[in-house]
Amino acid sequence: MSAQMPPTGTPTETSDDRDDLFFIDEAEAAASGDATAQRASWRILVVDDDADVHSTTTFALKNVEMQGRPLEFLHAYSAQEARTLLEREPDIAVLLLDVVMERPDAGLQLVRQIREELGMIELRIILRTGQPGYAPELDAIRGYDINDYRTKSELTRTKLYTAVAAAVRSYQQLRALDASRAGLEQIVTAGAQLMALHGVRDVAQGVLLQAATLLGQQAAGVLCVRESGQGRPDVLHVVAAAGAHAFLEGRELSPQRDPLLAAVAGRTLAARAGLAADGWLSLHFPGKAGRDFAACIPFERGIGDIERRLLDVFASVVAVGLDNVELVTHLNQAAFRDQLTGLPNRTRVVELLDALLAGPQRGAATLALVDLDHFAETNDALGHHFGDLLLVAVGKRLKSQLDPTLDVARIGGDIFCVLGDAGAVQPAAIQALFRVPFHIDGQDVQVSATLGLVRLVEHDGSGADALKDADIALKRAKSQQRAGHFYFSRSMGVEIRERVRMMHALRSGFQRGELFLAYQPQVELASNRAFGAEALLRWRTEDGRLIGPDRFIPIAEYSGLIVDIGEWVLRQALAELVRLRASGHRAFTMSVNVSQVQFRHPQFVDMLRRALELTGAPPEFVELEITESMAMEEPSLLVEKLAQVKRTGVSIAIDDFGTGFSSLSHLQRLQVDRLKIDRTFVTEITGSARGSSIAEMVIQLGRNLGLSVIAEGVEDERQAHILRSLGCPLAQGFLFARPLSPEALLEWLGNQALIEAA
Ligand code: C2E
Ligand code: CA
Ligand code: CA
Repeated sequence: MSAQMPPTGTPTETSDDRDDLFFIDEAEAAASGDATAQRASWRILVVDDDADVHSTTTFALKNVEMQGRPLEFLHAYSAQEARTLLEREPDIAVLLLDVVMERPDAGLQLVRQIREELGMIELRIILRTGQPGYAPELDAIRGYDINDYRTKSELTRTKLYTAVAAAVRSYQQLRALDASRAGLEQIVTAGAQLMALHGVRDVAQGVLLQAATLLGQQAAGVLCVRESGQGRPDVLHVVAAAGAHAFLEGRELSPQRDPLLAAVAGRTLAARAGLAADGWLSLHFPGKAGRDFAACIPFERGIGDIERRLLDVFASVVAVGLDNVELVTHLNQAAFRDQLTGLPNRTRVVELLDALLAGPQRGAATLALVDLDHFAETNDALGHHFGDLLLVAVGKRLKSQLDPTLDVARIGGDIFCVLGDAGAVQPAAIQALFRVPFHIDGQDVQVSATLGLVRLVEHDGSGADALKDADIALKRAKSQQRAGHFYFSRSMGVEIRERVRMMHALRSGFQRGELFLAYQPQVELASNRAFGAEALLRWRTEDGRLIGPDRFIPIAEYSGLIVDIGEWVLRQALAELVRLRASGHRAFTMSVNVSQVQFRHPQFVDMLRRALELTGAPPEFVELEITESMAMEEPSLLVEKLAQVKRTGVSIAIDDFGTGFSSLSHLQRLQVDRLKIDRTFVTEITGSARGSSIAEMVIQLGRNLGLSVIAEGVEDERQAHILRSLGCPLAQGFLFARPLSPEALLEWLGNQALIEAA
């Protein structure tokens, strides 16, 4: 302990020959009170009530450098004074502390305060005591993280140097750790925050802000990207800007207007690394496909090693963030692209249409939907991979062989779209592309397509509406077999409104009991004797008009109404069968049409069982007619469902046979009992050369597969004659009878019996 205690808080300059020892000026201390990294010296605080100790210490450590930096001394003459100073002065690296000052334990108390109250954990402490042999408790040394403990006499120049150097190094490491921890935490948060932002601009702004926080300054500077190509020399584009440069945002960074900034950004991008020079700090963010970003931030001070490394980490985190923005941009793009073919998708087509409809050229364009025929079957038969390859091939062909000014898109499963100048969108040209088979997976596949077209000049809705209209035209083209293509017309729109009206009328008509069944006899060709009848649905509206099933069944299917109507038909027909049986027609079969929608209904088989139970009709005299197109869909599901139907004892006929593309193997898997030759093939039978008709092939097929065959739509004797000679066993048609009311049917059957008896 010493008596020469200078007044608290009044540091004094020592003599001129010891000008290396100085007392830090308060104002200077405050002015330099910012981040540690730029501090050019290690600050050492000497706390001792003996002024001589201060001077010997500074003298001993005069002109030394540690880790490339000189030492800077601060002085306090009591624990109290030291504490005040520590609270005020940042970045003190080492404390050379006298143990015994105002009180015997003043030094240790100060250590406790430093660690516990001030929370200064990096500060390295070297304890010194004037009394040899007076050692503080080891516990205190350990507990308070004291670096070193020396007696004052021990502190020779060398020893003091070694002790302080070790403490400085330790301090530096601790600070590095701490700064990195805080910095890394900040970077991690920054990264997460950047990820949450959308759009390059927002992220770029975020980057400037985060960089500023990291550097401990206000957001300033620019973030730019080099935009290359498109015939122009590379230009730097400012994505985001802040502070004094905020006005640059969204502009080009021109070397004329901002020579220094442009040079810094240019150098950074060229060097692919951040720089710190000329009052600027720059960061480089490598991007994908050469789209690198550079941030240039006004930065006046020097940059420390740790700070530099943190900025590097920050830059790489940001690069990931920017890449993600690019990814988002890419995803946005994906929103407009079909993943499989890479062609524009439906959304994009709607955009294109909207633009066309809004533009001056609206009249000039035509939209064509190109629908692959029987694609679902190809997909089922050959697998989805094959189907995908086929779609890709079709897209490629459309794109490469049609007029290059046309837009080709894929707007759904097997529906492509061709859009452009009306003169260039030619249905014949599009369909001609399908005449050459597609070579897929070593196989040649022949596909055809059906087209629905809309002339935009005739369209007055939105782009989405134009697509709907094209879809309507497409459906029309599909429903008219072999129509190939169809242009949408306003009258079709009218038709649709008409259909909606009819749907409402049908619903209420069904409830009011306007539906009824007619029964058309089916005969054995050899004897003309009736063996059964087909139930055919009829609708007489309130005002007495008769509407054909061809018109209202599709509406019933479309609206789902067919499920209820179909159940009613089945019960009616089965009840009629029971009545016929009661009238003595015991070997009579009732055929009932079942539409796709009905058959697909999950409750269909239950519904069938209920109808059989309810009416008491014998299943062996009941036949369901399903259409061939239906027989082609989802084979495994169909096989299973047909098997369930068969288990009820009911038999199955394939209606309109010959119009679809049933493969033989497919037919064999389906447990059907009868093929019904479509009326069109019966009609053409008299025209075609014998032995080449489809009717004949179906008859042979039936024979080979052990299936019954019935010809429908037999209108004259000649047809009946040919069918007989071809070996067709059964027939149905106006030649024998028209669809009849139950009473008329009974009468007709009675007459037949009379004729036979005669
Ligand atoms: P479809 O199943 O092919 O029925 C045969 C159609 O051909 C009937 O027309 C019938 O009247 C008609 N037809 C019968 N013989 C001749 C003939 O010699 N010449 C000509 N030109 N036509 C003949 P309809 O009754 O108008 O039925 C049309 C279609 O409506 C049916 O075709 C069937 O697909 C559907 N349909 C009828 N009733 C029902 C039903 O209850 N449910 C379901 N889902 N569909 C039904
Ligand atoms: Ca039928
Ligand atoms: Ca038919």
